[in-house]
Formats: sequence, C-alpha cells, structure tokens
Amino acid sequence: MTALDQERILASLRAVAGPDGTGDIVGLGLVSDILINGGKVMFSITVDAARAHEMEPLRAKAAAAVNAIDGVESTLVILTAERRGNSMATSAPPPRPAPARAHAHSSPAAHPPRPAPQPGSSAKPGIPGVGAIIAVASGKGGVGKSTTAVNLALGLLANGLKVGLLDADIYGPSVPRLLGLSGRPEAIEGRTLKPMEAYGLKAMSMGFLVEEETPMIWRGPMVMSALTQMLREVAWAPLDVLIVDMPPGTGDAQLTMAQQVPLAGAVIVSTPQDLALIDARKGLAMFRKVDVPVLGIVENMSYFIAPDTGKRYDIFGHGGAEREAARLGVPFLGAVPIEMVIRETSDAGKPVVATDPDGPHAAIYKAIATKVWENAKGGARPAPAIVIE
Ligand code: ADP
Repeated sequence: MTALDQERILASLRAVAGPDGTGDIVGLGLVSDILINGGKVMFSITVDAARAHEMEPLRAKAAAAVNAIDGVESTLVILTAERRGNSMATSAPPPRPAPARAHAHSSPAAHPPRPAPQPGSSAKPGIPGVGAIIAVASGKGGVGKSTTAVNLALGLLANGLKVGLLDADIYGPSVPRLLGLSGRPEAIEGRTLKPMEAYGLKAMSMGFLVEEETPMIWRGPMVMSALTQMLREVAWAPLDVLIVDMPPGTGDAQLTMAQQVPLAGAVIVSTPQDLALIDARKGLAMFRKVDVPVLGIVENMSYFIAPDTGKRYDIFGHGGAEREAARLGVPFLGAVPIEMVIRETSDAGKPVVATDPDGPHAAIYKAIATKVWENAKGGARPAPAIVIE
C-alpha cells in the first residue's frame, strides 16, 4: 500500500462531476486543502449557499470516491457555502441537506452554515434537553482558557450539575489532551454522535475527528459548519450546562460563533497583564455586541505560591484584577494561582478538580463554578457598560 497523499485523493476526486454535471470538482476549484492524518482524510467542497440542499449527493459521492482509496479509514467532507456579497449573513437559512448515513467509512456530514442572526434576535434555537450554554473565552491564546474551561466544567459537576464540554477551539483543540481522551466518538441514530466521556463530563471536540497534531486549515464557513455539527448533532441531552471552550481571540470567527450559539453567558479568562491591557476588554466588547451577558472574569496565573515555603507572591500586585473588573462593570469570579500542579495535571489529561477534588485548587475552581452558576441563573441581565479608551 502506498502512503496516502494529496495527489491520489485529488485524482479520485477528479472523477466527481461538478454541481451542474459539467467539469469535475477539482478542476472547478471547489475542493479545499486536504488534511491527511494516517488513514483519516478531511476536506471541504465549496458550494453555492442557495443550492446547498441539492449538494448532499455531491458530498456523498466525493466521500465515497475517497473512501474507495486503499488505505483510507475515514473521511470527513464538509460542504461550505460560498460567501455572498460582503457578509456571511443571507436573508434565509439554507435548508439542511439530507442526513448522511454514518458508517465505518464516513463521518457524518456537516450542514452548511446558517446565516448569522442579528444581535438580540431570537433566531438562535436552544438545544433540546440542554440547560444553559456558557462560553469560556479569552482575548488571546495561552492565558489558560482551556485549562479553566475544563476545571470550571468539573467544578460545576462537583457542585451536582450534569455538565458537557464542547471544544469550539477547532484551530487547536486541546480538550482531548486535557481530559486524557482519545479515539473517535460513536455514531448513533444516523448522523448523531455520542459524546465522549471523562470524569463524568460529556465532551466533544474536533480533536476526536482529526488528530491533534494535524494543522488545521479552516476557511470561515467551515468553522461554522463544524461548530454547528458539534452543537446540534451530538447527543448532549440531558445536561444542566454545556461549557463551550471558545477559540482564542476576538476576531470575526469568534464573533460569528457568539452569534450562532444560543449562549446564556460568557466567562472571560485573563491574565493580570492582559486584563490591564486591551485584550480582555475586547472580549467584553465582543459579547456585548451580540447581547450575551458576561458572567464575569477569571484571573488566571494571578499569583504564585512557593512550593517549598508556601509563601504567596503577588507578582502583579494584589487586587488589581478585581478592581479592574469592577471598573469595567463585570463580576469578578476569582483568581487562580500559577501553579506547577495545575500545569502538570492539565497537560497530563488529569485535571486537578477531578484528580484532587479536596485540594486547594479544586476549592478555587469550585468556588468559581458556584459564582458562574449563580450569575447564569440570574437570567439575562443587561450587558455591562464597557469603557474602552
Ligand atoms: P489557552 O486555552 O488560553 O491557550 P491553556 O489552557 O492551553 O491556554 O494553557 C496554556 C498553558 O498554561 C498550558 O500548558 C497549561 O497547562 C498552563 N496553565 C494554564 N493555567 C495555569 C495555571 N493556573 N498555572 C500553571 N499553568 C497553567
């Protein structure tokens, strides 16, 4: 068996006719970059949004052509809608394509992106059987957003709630690693996937569909398609709360996600430095734009406790973040120290709240979880006034 490569896959896809029966999907330039990881193949096909519903057979044909190649174990083919005009928003949602059969050789298809609802509109249906959906976001990467999301989810679980964790960070999914999960989710009832489970949490991540090391090359519409699939085609119910680990940053992709997902609120994770700077405020502004209440700010890597002496060092000064949160008009949820044990447990797939539930770090995350839940139950509060200098 020869190794899989782009050329072999493209050669097979050249046999698939274009949407109008003329030409082929490769020649017409409709096939995205192809991600290959071992026997897993993933790519997208660009289609006209208005005709998306007719394109499911085309998607299925392309998937079948690739599945027939020796050495291919699974294929994920996503239809992406062409951008129209200068906005992803069109006047009506494209109809859903026919359900794809899920079998050993085919991952369920994502349907094309729905148009972004206008801020404040009620066009964001919830997920049946799922209570509150709460986003965990950060102004930039590397501040500990995913670590916080995982431990917050486990904190809510420890407080007696049924909890799910959706890794929407599809550019760099880290939930599989943080929860020590591997393998692929099972398909149940056609295209619905069964969430993976760890420490009593239900979890879904693009990392279960594509290997973590695979470089992710996503185009805008693909992002929405993948997210919608993970939200709506996963058997989440029954859940009290679904925590969504958002991608880092506050660009268009994040804004679109915040618009698409029916969020009860958002938690912003920040380090002391970037709270004082502009990044965290951008996060606040983004959620405000789409009328999502900010449930509060978690200050991560806030202080340091020397492991040998137990002495606390407030490297960035004490209470700065709390004052800053008050000034910005958002609740302060708590401060998490920078700790070797948090990094080690997190990176080893043994999150501290699950593996040392009675320890000092679990206590911090559980207290944060209590506040998050209280603020979320407080119902829709007006977005805070945000001052951006
Ligand atoms: P993000 O999701 O913001 O990119 P991660 O949660 O992946 O950030 O964290 C980045 C790195 O920092 C990881 O190696 C993680 O283990 C570590 N980390 C996160 N929070 C803490 C903390 N409070 N103390 C020590 N290390 C931490």
